[in-house]
Amino acid sequence: MQSMNQLLSVVIPVYNEGEGIAHAIQQISKTLVQANIPHEFVLVDDGSRDHSWDELLKLAKGSDNILSVKLSRNFGKEAALCAGLDHAKGACCLCMDSDLQHPPEIIPEMYRLWKDDGVEVVEGIKKHRGRESISYKLSAKIFYQLLKKTSGINLENASDFRLLDRVAVEAWKSLPERSTFFRGMSTWIGFSRAQVSFVVAPRENGSTKWSFFRLARLGLSAITSFSAAPLYLSATIGCAFLFLFVLLLGWTLYMKFMGIAADGFTTVISLQLIVGGLLLLSVGVIGIYLEKIYEEVKGRPRYLIHRVVARNPTSSNSIVREG
Ligand code: UDP
Ligand code: MG
Repeated sequence: MQSMNQLLSVVIPVYNEGEGIAHAIQQISKTLVQANIPHEFVLVDDGSRDHSWDELLKLAKGSDNILSVKLSRNFGKEAALCAGLDHAKGACCLCMDSDLQHPPEIIPEMYRLWKDDGVEVVEGIKKHRGRESISYKLSAKIFYQLLKKTSGINLENASDFRLLDRVAVEAWKSLPERSTFFRGMSTWIGFSRAQVSFVVAPRENGSTKWSFFRLARLGLSAITSFSAAPLYLSATIGCAFLFLFVLLLGWTLYMKFMGIAADGFTTVISLQLIVGGLLLLSVGVIGIYLEKIYEEVKGRPRYLIHRVVARNPTSSNSIVREG
């Protein structure tokens, strides 16, 4: 039996990946066996609407080292990753996608950096962003620049393909927030790090689960989770305009007392539009933070579990464990 203190837990979120998941696990498994890495899989079905769960059941029942977790509905990739990390038992955990876009071939190198060099967080860095539309690339660029400017965290070309030592996993798990951003939080925790670059492979099956709207939400959520800069920005703009308005007031009173105050219609309209727009924008920014506080104070769990299935090698009677 392989020693537990070198066990690698491979955590994979799965959402509507019924077509390709068995093949992906087989490919990853092949690489790990060849490299002689003791491992387990923690597969999390994030409320898929296709036959993904049937596939995960088959996989869990057919192997001693696969644990399949089914969430009660679609909670999103971030929550699925949390569920996976909560169930992983390994001395280190590797998070990766289920569509083989994160190439298994570099896992042995990531594992070696952890095992031999004692690196606590090994990050997969995208050398090339793969085939993406120009608008997607541009939106990603703007998002990463904003995040870097506002929070100082540079996630450009970073990915969720990361290997975390047990101490880093526990540190990450101790962060109490309900809405999580794995990439950002696992960077924020610190610890010793190394980077391994990889080329994003084209998707083998199915299509991406990220619409523009979902990405924009994730981006906004990430920025507001890591920084209060948008709040300060609206306050700063407010101060700048207040200064301008004092000058304008002086000018208007001067005109009035000099008896030449008839003009100024354009100024009034422009001011109304600018002030109205800025007020709405500021209220919107405050609203986003308020929503975040509201979500956090509700204190709901990050995800709910429907079933946990694993073949238990220690008892031949309890082939399926459910929770
Ligand atoms: N995923 C998930 N829940 C979701 C959306 C995606 O668990 O709500 C999983 C998906 O099955 C895949 C990974 O997250 O394993 C990355 O998703 P995808 O490949 O669609 O993202 P992309 O590679 O296009 O960024
Ligand atoms: Mg993908």
